[in-house]
Amino acid sequence: MYKIAVIPGDGIGTEVINSGVEVLKALSKVETNLPIEFTEFDWGSDYYRKHGIMMPEEGVEELKNFNSIYFGSAGDPEVPDHITLWGLRLKICQGLDQYANLRPVRLLPGIGSPLKDVDETDIDWAFIRENSEGEYSGIGGRSHKGYSHDTAMDITLFTKQGVERIQRFAFEIARSRPRKLLTLVTKSNAQRHGMVMWDEIFEEISEDYKDVTTDKMLVDAMTTRMVLDPKSIDTVVASNLHADILTDLAAALSGSMGIAPTANLDPDRRHPSMFEPIHGSAFDIMGKGIANPIGSYWSAVMMLENLGELKAAQKLMSAIEKLTSDNKFLPRDLGGQSSTKQVTKAMIDIISGKNH
Ligand code: ATP
Repeated sequence: MYKIAVIPGDGIGTEVINSGVEVLKALSKVETNLPIEFTEFDWGSDYYRKHGIMMPEEGVEELKNFNSIYFGSAGDPEVPDHITLWGLRLKICQGLDQYANLRPVRLLPGIGSPLKDVDETDIDWAFIRENSEGEYSGIGGRSHKGYSHDTAMDITLFTKQGVERIQRFAFEIARSRPRKLLTLVTKSNAQRHGMVMWDEIFEEISEDYKDVTTDKMLVDAMTTRMVLDPKSIDTVVASNLHADILTDLAAALSGSMGIAPTANLDPDRRHPSMFEPIHGSAFDIMGKGIANPIGSYWSAVMMLENLGELKAAQKLMSAIEKLTSDNKFLPRDLGGQSSTKQVTKAMIDIISGKNH
């Protein structure tokens, strides 16, 4: 029995995760030997309004009892962003040392890209984002608030161990992919301490991965390459901030923010990993029933892969690809007319082998 902690969170997070759970339940019914038990947690901004915290203090400890965490999003118009982010998602990622953030990016069949003349073979990338330190270390301070000399400082922290472990993970992912090509993205011309260390460690580690071809890009040049020469890219590793920005661009280039999944992984398997769509709470469409739930399905694929359920993962991915290529039940952000409920039903029908 797989024990999954479900944290729908805020905004459209609840809508897409509820849809994902329904789809996983349908999959669990048709697959032999895929028993899943879901336990839902009401953590998020409503919880914050009642208790003054986004999740209980002992919450991270509680999550250690699960095999995986299935997460929606955190964000609310009435609660400052740094509270929603640090109080829930980052608290879990850091508390469970989920140091590797993996984001596959593919142009799915039937989905158009804003780029001209690209097809499914042009965009097939794996982004690896450092997820535990760097620009989002949380170290820093503020002083003289309210005065003209108000001062703020955010410290970027790179540790040799932190950089090494994420780069090794990236080399392993690159090695597992057919092209075996890994691009290191930094800004080591301007950020001349930490990013230079990234370059040095990359050189060292590449000695252990002679079968992986490597190259390096500065982050600004990488944005151009993604737009102008997407086919030249395979696996990419970058710091917390740089990869955060690049992967939003990647999601847009592959069709919509609503499709892209992500996994916050503990590759050392000490603790459960967390799977979520990359989009946020999207207040502009919340409660309207039109959120695209595909990112939550693809996140569930990553969760099943992480659990070693490769056949079930493949079945779910094939169902997503059938949904997008059929083109009959697409949500609005992908140019269709279907509501979240209709997309959910279409997915469940595909999984259970019912024809439309
Ligand atoms: P964050 O919580 O990271 O601040 P956000 O709530 O501002 O994010 P994003 O997730 O960055 O919003 O998405 C930007 C916009 O893209 C949303 O306002 C919404 O219009 C659209 N969008 C994002 N995800 C989806 C989705 N699943 N379905 C439909 N539209 C989406």
